[in-house]
Amino acid sequence: MCFKKWSTWFCHVRQNIDGKIILTSYGYNTGLSIDPIEKKPLYHFYPTSRVLSFGTVGCNLGCKFCQNWNTSKSKINPEKLNKTSPELIAYLAKKHKCKSVAFTYNEPTIFLEYAIDTAKACKELGIKTVAVSAGYINPEPRAELFKYIDAVNIDLKAFNNDFYKRNCMASLEPVLDTIRYVKHETNAWLELTTLLIEGENDSELEIKSECEWIVENLGECVPVHFSAFHPSYKFNEKTATKIPTLLKAIQIAKSTGLKYVYAGNVSNIETSTTYCKNCGKPIIIREGYYIAAYNLDENSRCEFCETKCDGHFENIFI
Ligand code: SF4
Repeated sequence: MCFKKWSTWFCHVRQNIDGKIILTSYGYNTGLSIDPIEKKPLYHFYPTSRVLSFGTVGCNLGCKFCQNWNTSKSKINPEKLNKTSPELIAYLAKKHKCKSVAFTYNEPTIFLEYAIDTAKACKELGIKTVAVSAGYINPEPRAELFKYIDAVNIDLKAFNNDFYKRNCMASLEPVLDTIRYVKHETNAWLELTTLLIEGENDSELEIKSECEWIVENLGECVPVHFSAFHPSYKFNEKTATKIPTLLKAIQIAKSTGLKYVYAGNVSNIETSTTYCKNCGKPIIIREGYYIAAYNLDENSRCEFCETKCDGHFENIFI
């Protein structure tokens, strides 16, 4: 295959070759790294477990605030990328005692075939799979991908279509549709993240509308992460999100009934702790990405009131 002929379409990675759309980045990645699962962020999916993470280049969105723009906006350059087969990724995950493999850093939709083959290889070795996704994907490939995914964190970037159009070259409704699909039509564990950018998507009305939509469409027990924005890419002149902005969002979210709400990209024990949805006592206390206290029994029940915590857990020793 001739790399010089590869096109520069919006996504940077798909090309029409002899009438077929080919994924030119298949097998290429920007590097593998081992993270705590909390970094994805997934707080209710095997806390403290290790996840082998990778992404590729390109993206199907054009977020002006992309924190991984150096890869999501890159064209494929085989000389600067690793070539790693799906089977080798699964093998490395097993070898390094990772509970899961994550498709992350850029949008898994953009490397769908590579992600699916890797997920299949992981299943063979008993490794779970995680997708960190913007959820902007058509129903047919969506069904193909999520068939193999055990947990997903979807970026709900804002709760207004104008934001998606101006800042992401995308639209809101397909994302909401994917979120509903994952929750109701797959077995994948779902958490949501909204990166709060002051003056763009942090109004009280918008956050309240988002949380009410979540409660109404997904229930009260889907974990929601409000993350702090740091100036990046075309939003380099914007200010970083302040702690009070995150705290306000958390307060609004809790007032709508959401049970598990967190602040991300900041170090704050109170806003990264999981509280029992019944008695309100702290059941998982996190310091950064690490667990300082774990008050769930072997059946994932609160040690204070025996209410089951939502998510996937196993015994861990602190
Ligand atoms: S979807 Fe994610 S990777 Fe793609 S441009 Fe937006 S922030 Fe970057």
